[in-house]
Amino acid sequence: MTEPVRYRKDREGKRYRVVLNEGHEGFVTRWTESCTGCFEFNEGWGLEHYEYDAKHKCRIGAGCSECGYTGKRRASFWVPFDMTAWSRYVKAAEERQAAG
Ligand SMILES: [Zn+2]
Repeated sequence: MTEPVRYRKDREGKRYRVVLNEGHEGFVTRWTESCTGCFEFNEGWGLEHYEYDAKHKCRIGAGCSECGYTGKRRASFWVPFDMTAWSRYVKAAEERQAAG
């Protein structure tokens, strides 16, 4: 059985697809960022040495195995709708772990 897709709106009316994490409701935010694996900072070599991707607002690295030689990578992060409840849950889980 699969969970039906649900959406929630924030105060500004922006719609988010609900993604459950440990029973808590949240949403996943995704963006593209520079791959940190293929940037080299040496004396005289700044960021301007690398190509700028205006669409994704990041510099494109030289390419490495970490990013599949694209110089940038997709990043994602789960954000809870109820940060207070989530923080409480994480804290309780940590305490349980610490107690063994
Ligand atoms: Zn890379």
